Amino acid sequence: MEQLQMTRSTQLKTKPATDQLGFGRHFTDHMLLMDYSKGQGWHAPRIVPYGPLTLDPSAMVFHYGQEVFEGMKAYRTPQGEVVLFRPDMNLKRLNHSCERLSIPQVDEKALLDAIRQLIVLEKDWIPEGEGNSLYIRPFIIATEPGLGVRAAHDYLLLVILSPVGAYYSEGIHPVRIYVEDQYVRAVRGGTGEAKTSGNYASGIKAQEVAEGLGFSQVLWLDGVEHKYIEEVGSMNVFFKVNGEVITPALNGSILAGITRDSVIHMLKSWGVKVTERRISVEELYTAWQEGKLEEAFGTGTAAVISPIGFMKWEGHEMEINGGETGDYAKKLYDQLTGIQRGELDDPFSWRY
Ligand code: PMP
Repeated sequence: MEQLQMTRSTQLKTKPATDQLGFGRHFTDHMLLMDYSKGQGWHAPRIVPYGPLTLDPSAMVFHYGQEVFEGMKAYRTPQGEVVLFRPDMNLKRLNHSCERLSIPQVDEKALLDAIRQLIVLEKDWIPEGEGNSLYIRPFIIATEPGLGVRAAHDYLLLVILSPVGAYYSEGIHPVRIYVEDQYVRAVRGGTGEAKTSGNYASGIKAQEVAEGLGFSQVLWLDGVEHKYIEEVGSMNVFFKVNGEVITPALNGSILAGITRDSVIHMLKSWGVKVTERRISVEELYTAWQEGKLEEAFGTGTAAVISPIGFMKWEGHEMEINGGETGDYAKKLYDQLTGIQRGELDDPFSWRY
């Protein structure tokens, strides 16, 4: 990649108070851009003041959704260092998503170094305070004008940064989940294992319905048989059944979460039996009836670990672990956030 050009903003914004952060509502002073054109490949990496884009109304991304994105966080350690958690995995997944959406691959190492330079420039935006962090959103859009349905020849890569508040401002707590039996998020052969906007657009309706019924997220079932568990909201999902931890195997319609991978490694390092396999909601309900469903939790960058205290599937209601956070969920949360924030040793070399 060519040398990164930098144009500094002359008007720095006022930073939000740390108790007013929320998620994705404030953006830093600068952003990273890079162009792709068929003749030149990826070129002209540059850091510029954060601001609106000018695009042709026929830019292909607006019409057929040729887009991919990533999400990760930068944390400030007690020693004042700035660390990322396994960013190489995010960039690898970005390229995997690109492959599925017919978007040209990026140089992962060079992009990570450019992101590093952006974060160094914006380090004062990493909010102080327990649980706060700087959310990093890389994304690529098809910018070529035209309404023909095909892969675009021109793209824009952007990285924007947003200071975000703690996901659990009042401590980790279990959520209520609605097992979605009508809408589906993804099908095998579709784009479920890519991180692309269309997957999220198609999930919004179900999320709204579930919220209207008093649930915080939906549990997605497979798109073919509506039987097998896939993900929960925009998280991967784990169940502790009779001492064993089970998570749906990556089957082509599930996003390969980086938190998921980290949880599997961590549980195995504790000597816990972890199985990646197909699991039906019926099997889960039977386990619950027999008193063997001991814990359920979601995993993802936003919440890290999100315990599930209650699930509704058709007419059946399941309270899990008395509606309380389970031991594994609690320990995983403490250990993972401790590593991410530089408060604990990093035995897996996950910090960057
Ligand atoms: N599934 C979906 C659909 C997601 O959007 C996310 C968030 N990236 C995850 C799972 C969890 O992935 P990660 O642990 O990498 O954040």
